[in-house]
Amino acid sequence: MKKVFGVIGLGRFGFNVAKTLAEGGAEVIACDIDEEKVKQISELVHQAFILDATDEKALKESGIANADTVIVSIGENIEASILVVVQLMELGIKEIIAKAVNPLHGRILERLGVSRVIHPERDMAIRLAHSLLVGGFIEEIPIAENYSIFEMKPPQRLHNKTLKELDLRRKYDVTVLAIKRGDKFIVNPSAEEVIVQDDILVVLGRREKIGVL
Ligand code: ATP
Repeated sequence: MKKVFGVIGLGRFGFNVAKTLAEGGAEVIACDIDEEKVKQISELVHQAFILDATDEKALKESGIANADTVIVSIGENIEASILVVVQLMELGIKEIIAKAVNPLHGRILERLGVSRVIHPERDMAIRLAHSLLVGGFIEEIPIAENYSIFEMKPPQRLHNKTLKELDLRRKYDVTVLAIKRGDKFIVNPSAEEVIVQDDILVVLGRREKIGVL
């Protein structure tokens, strides 16, 4: 069965979350108080509603209670963001992901018990700075407190060596999950696989370990 997502607040963040989820084949219910925003998203998603999400009745009528995950992307109006989160909890939504615009807003959302708090600008700035510090670092997907999956270009010292010789898991607690090589995608590479210059590695590990590879 398709996963159902609700997206409340269609600013740049919410709009792009809703659009990307829909493009990825998910069923999306999108809501905003602003008619224009709803009009823009309506061709892209399953259902779109103009509503004030702080209005309990309107929220219920939207059918958002059927969503598996709801992303609350109301930023500037912190009070509205909090009211919406509480109502979603009362509707029994299991996974609520909320955007915070400042650290206090983030702490309040955490205290309320949302599954995940996103600080888009702060997080993007940190990721950009890290990617600039660690050469060859392309993408990071945080998966736990200290661990991320990284896409990276292998530094020169790794070139033309087998994974066995490099022994990254033992030395750096880094696991190579896959290698992108031209059109090929080598999943779970064997210990005999040789890393070459134009490879892109998909690795799991801590950022500070990836930085010293
Ligand atoms: P972004 O930084 O993602 O572009 P933004 O700065 O445009 O966001 P925010 O204040 O974070 O704006 O609000 C995001 C969206 O939430 C806006 O489109 C706004 O119309 C919508 N919104 C605000 N309050 C409510 C509400 N009570 N119910 C539904 N939508 C709301």
